[in-house]
Amino acid sequence: MSRLGAVLVGLVLFALPFLKYGVGGHAHGPHTDHAPRHGGELLMVGDYHLERVVRGPAVELFVSDALRRPVRPASARMLLDDGTERPLTWRDHRLVALRPPAPGSALYEVTVSDGPVLSTRFR
Ligand SMILES: [Zn+2]
Repeated sequence: MSRLGAVLVGLVLFALPFLKYGVGGHAHGPHTDHAPRHGGELLMVGDYHLERVVRGPAVELFVSDALRRPVRPASARMLLDDGTERPLTWRDHRLVALRPPAPGSALYEVTVSDGPVLSTRFR
């Protein structure tokens, strides 16, 4: 390989991370990505993210960290305004429960392993 060729290869390799991450706003820092991944509604709760998807009679909750890496919580429950509660069951990388009786009538409480308790309400 010519000296010029080697220099060009070096430049391309050096530029690759910028081409991959630096252009077009696809930065990979904490809280730079707030797009729903499952067609639901994404909320930021503390340093974590909860995406809620309503699917027929069920509601699904996807938990991720500041970098949007999936998180499996230690436990989770849904507290309804009528005083009852429903478990959110871990199934296939998400928490699943029966949909609350009315929009906004449930408080979601997710306990992260070795972390905080995330508490939020969706509209
Ligand atoms: Zn965020």
